[in-house]
Amino acid sequence: MNLAFIGTGYVGLVGAAVFSGWGNKVVGIDIDKKKVEMIKAGRMPIYEPGLSEVVLRNTKENRLSFTTSLAKGIEDAEIVFICVGTPQGVTGAADLSSVWKVAKEIGRNIRSYKVIVTKSTVPVGTNESVKEIIRENLTNKNVKFDVASNPEFLREGYSVEDMQNPDRTVVGSDSIKALRIMKKLYSHLETPVLTCDIRSSEMIKYASNAFLAAKISFINEIGQICERAGADVSVVAEGMGLDDRIGPRFLRAGIGYGGSCFPKDVSALYKTSSDQDYDFKLLRGVMEVNERQRDHFLFKISRHFGENLDGKKFGVLGLAFKENTDDIRDSVAIKVIRSLRGMGAYIRAYDPQATENAKKELGETGIRYCKSASSALKDCDALVILTEWKEFEFLDLNLAKKLLKKPVIFDGRNVLNRKEVESMGFMYFAVGKRTKAVRGIDDRTLQASAILSNGKR
Ligand code: NAD
Repeated sequence: MNLAFIGTGYVGLVGAAVFSGWGNKVVGIDIDKKKVEMIKAGRMPIYEPGLSEVVLRNTKENRLSFTTSLAKGIEDAEIVFICVGTPQGVTGAADLSSVWKVAKEIGRNIRSYKVIVTKSTVPVGTNESVKEIIRENLTNKNVKFDVASNPEFLREGYSVEDMQNPDRTVVGSDSIKALRIMKKLYSHLETPVLTCDIRSSEMIKYASNAFLAAKISFINEIGQICERAGADVSVVAEGMGLDDRIGPRFLRAGIGYGGSCFPKDVSALYKTSSDQDYDFKLLRGVMEVNERQRDHFLFKISRHFGENLDGKKFGVLGLAFKENTDDIRDSVAIKVIRSLRGMGAYIRAYDPQATENAKKELGETGIRYCKSASSALKDCDALVILTEWKEFEFLDLNLAKKLLKKPVIFDGRNVLNRKEVESMGFMYFAVGKRTKAVRGIDDRTLQASAILSNGKR
C-alpha cells in the first residue's frame, strides 16, 4: 500500500520506517527542513535502538523516502497518518494547533480518495473536527475521503520493537470502507486489531496512559507507607506483580513519571473530564502524588545536607525521562537538577544518550556534562540517580566509593541493590525503603516532608 506519515518524530519516523519494512511504499513528511535533510543523509534525529538500520534498509530498497512537501508526500498515498506533536497547552488541555494546521493543508492538497488517520494522541472529538476542517478546505469539493483514529501505544526506547509487534491495534472510524482498508494494512499482525467508533478509539489511548500513570502513583503511595512502616516497596511490588491480575510492570517506585506522554495525557484527560462537568478525583490524585514524589526526594537531600547546598557537588546519573532514550521532555531528572542548582549545588551529570538535549535545556552554568558515570562522581558529596538506565545497575561501587568525597547515594529510581550498597558502607537513600543509618530520625523527617508536600514549598 502507499502510505504517508506527516511528522517524523518518535512516532512518525518509527512508523514510516516500520510500515515500509512491511512492504508498503512510504513517504515521511516534516516541516522541519533540518530534520528531513538529516534523515535523508542517513543520520537519525532521535536515539531509538534499531531505528537507523530499518530506515537505511528501506530507503535503500526504495520503499521509504522523505520530503518537506505535504502536497507531494500525500499525492499517491491511500492512507495518510497524522503524527505531529500534541503538547500540553496553557490550560492543561492538548495543544492541537499542529493537527489543525495539517488538516487544513491536507484539505487543500488532496486530489483522490484517502483515509486520513490520526496517530497523534488527541482528545475525544478531535477526529470529527479534523474531518470538518479537511472538508471546509477541499480545493476539489468532489474528492472523497474518510477519517480514522489509530492511536499509537509505543514506548520510547523500544519503539521499533513495539511498532513491529504491538500488543494490540485500535482503529476507530465511522466508515466501513476506511475500516476495511485499515484492517488490510494490519492483516499480517497476529495480535488483536480492535475496530470501534472514533470517540472510543480516542478515549482508549488516554484511558490507557492514565491507568499506567495511576499504577505508578499507586506504587509510589505504597512506597510512602513502606518507608514509614519499615517495609521495602521493591519487595512489595514484586509480591503484588506475581498476581496475574496485577502484573509486574509499572510498579517501580521512584521520583515519579515524566516524559512527553504521561504528564500531558493525564492532564489532558483531566481537562476533558472537567469540560464534561465531571470531577475525576482519582486522576487529580495521580498528578498530585507524582509531584509529591519529587519533592519528597529533594527533601531527603536537603535534610541530609541542609537547605543551602552552596559548595555541595552532586554526581548525577541520568538526564533522560526514562532509560533507553535521549528524550528529556518533561523529564523529572531535569526538574530535580534545576531544584538542586537553585539550592546552590553544583552538578556533574552523565547520561548515555540525553546529554546534548539536556545541554539545550539546562545550559552550562552550574553543571558539567561528563562522558562516563565514573567521571561524574569525582569529588562529589553524593551520587544521585535520576534515570533507570540499565548500566547504572552495574555501577562499579568500589570505584564509586573511592571517587566520592563521602559514601552517600540518593537513588531516585531504586536502581541499586540496597543490601549490597549498605554492606559496602554507603549511606543509601532510596524510594519506599528506610535508610539504615538514619532510621531513628526517619519518622520526623517523613512528617516534615508530608507538610512540605502539602504546599509549603
Ligand atoms: P515529536 O515532537 O517527536 O514529532 C512531531 C513531528 O511533527 C516533529 O518532527 C515536527 O517537526 C513535525 N511537525 C509539526 N508540525 C508539522 C506540520 N505542520 N507538518 C509536518 N510536520 C510537522 O512528537 P512524537 O513524540 O512523535 O509524538 C507525536 C504524537 O504521538 C503526539 O500526539 C504524542 O502524544 C503521540 N505519541 C507519542 C509517543 C511517544 O512515545 N513519543 C507514543 C505514543 C503516542
